[in-house]
Amino acid sequence: MGDRWQVAVDRGVCIGSGLCASTAPEGFRLDSARQSHPVTDEMAAQEAVLAAAEGCPVEAIVITEVDSGEALFPPEE
Ligand code: SF4
Repeated sequence: MGDRWQVAVDRGVCIGSGLCASTAPEGFRLDSARQSHPVTDEMAAQEAVLAAAEGCPVEAIVITEVDSGEALFPPEE
């Protein structure tokens, strides 16, 4: 697992459940429209952020390893 992750939320998909922000409060914030945003586009690899992506009910969170460009979530087939 790389040290730096690029994290994105597909706002057309996010339903604003808030699950990601409660699972990884250092990784995600909800705005006033209850849309999730990564706190920063790039962040240190952390288990809670991966858990948030895995737990998102609509798979709106995309994590890419910065160095390799490898898709960590959703995983490549
Ligand atoms: S868990 Fe998914 S649907 Fe819920 S706020 Fe986060 S990105 Fe949006």
